[in-house]
Amino acid sequence: MPVYGLRASQREEILPDRWYNIVPDLPEPLPPPRRPDGSIVSPKDLEPIFPRALIEQEVSTERWIPIPEELRRVYLELGRPTPLFRARRLEEALDTPARIYYKYEGVLPTGSHKINTALAQAYYNRLEGVRRLTTETGAGQWGSALALAGAVFGLKVRVYMVRVSYEQKPYRRIVMQVYGAEVVPSPSPYTEAGRRILEQDPDNPGSLGIAISEAIEDALKHEDTKYSLGSVLNHVLLHQTVIGQEAKRQLEELGEYPDVVIGAVGGGSNYAGLAYPFVADRLAGKTETRFIAVEPRAAPSMTRGEYRYDYGDVAGLTPLLKMHTLGHRYIPPPIHAGGLRYHGVAPTLSMLVKHGIVEPVAYSQTEVFKAAVEFARIEGIIPAPESAHAVKAAIDEALRAKKEGEPRVILFNLSGHGLLDLKGYQDFLEGKLVDAEPERLDLSYLPKIE
Ligand SMILES: *Cc1c(COP(=O)(O)O)cnc(C)c1O
Repeated sequence: MPVYGLRASQREEILPDRWYNIVPDLPEPLPPPRRPDGSIVSPKDLEPIFPRALIEQEVSTERWIPIPEELRRVYLELGRPTPLFRARRLEEALDTPARIYYKYEGVLPTGSHKINTALAQAYYNRLEGVRRLTTETGAGQWGSALALAGAVFGLKVRVYMVRVSYEQKPYRRIVMQVYGAEVVPSPSPYTEAGRRILEQDPDNPGSLGIAISEAIEDALKHEDTKYSLGSVLNHVLLHQTVIGQEAKRQLEELGEYPDVVIGAVGGGSNYAGLAYPFVADRLAGKTETRFIAVEPRAAPSMTRGEYRYDYGDVAGLTPLLKMHTLGHRYIPPPIHAGGLRYHGVAPTLSMLVKHGIVEPVAYSQTEVFKAAVEFARIEGIIPAPESAHAVKAAIDEALRAKKEGEPRVILFNLSGHGLLDLKGYQDFLEGKLVDAEPERLDLSYLPKIE
């Protein structure tokens, strides 16, 4: 699928040929993954579930990691680089001196940034002879991306989809099936974890935690199968840095550099992808750019969570990671931004929050949808409910610039479109959205590891 309209050479120049790994540039060494007894999880321990190349990237302290040429071709053929837009109409409507730019990942085939890491993960798995991938999905953004990546690189994909979503959100399930993935409602009869739950409760609605347990068990039990994760881990975040590197080049062409970089945070991958190439400049003492990470009030890990070791999943199957967490037993209320309903956040992003380099903010879904509808009517694009969190923060920042009379340059990530999330918009328009946030958080059940 070659893209016309931009010279091929221009596209080639904008798409980077390496990923940026922030780990060596962090203000202190990244705490390693651990077991509940405090011992460190070694790379070898991860080999049953991940291919070696991805484990190497996970623990790498190299600043730059080359993007294999075959994969880079696929990025080009499937729509990278993505456009950088200036929201001129929004600037006018807000009557702000700020210049607002956004990187739009919604033009990619599955409608969000997640394909950037899905393709990379499928590529390395196939290279090491893996034939089949398993994963979990809630709303289906990640499952759709991995399903397409499997089709591109000739891998079978089985997606354990949380049963309520499987039944209530048929469209992304169909997207995955169109790409040839096998989608099973979780809990399923295919794993011990699933069977145990079904025996006791045949109508169990499922959860992301259960789906992760099933996907990992499946990968462990099949020789030809590995497991794949769509956010949080270092290797996932670094794959996403194509976004920020492209944005940097696109802004450079315009003679611009951002004063503020904004993005929505679930596990942290799209925000890290956009922000880290700019965070590098700030860590090197070259700039004073501000970094704003936006989360929902319903899952406020960065603004209200604690920075400590916790499991990545609800079942406690993964290694412990040091991160801002609400506790793995915390089940966020069912907000429409399903991709932001996560109890923790990526360890590298957590550290940047701890050091005050990234500033977290939280919004309720009603104010987020209000901003999204305003944006859609002015700029034309209907944002994914997740991305709408970044839209809301960008509008607030532009209004602050107006108040302070500062012509700031604001850059945000529009991580996906919302055309398969219209139920949230319907609820907003009908005044039926419910805002919720945790009252009191009790993390005393977490393992005590320093
Ligand atoms: C999954 C998703 C997110 C949140 O995940 P991150 O890993 O934090 O990026 C944000 N936006 C969209 C459109 C998503 O699909």
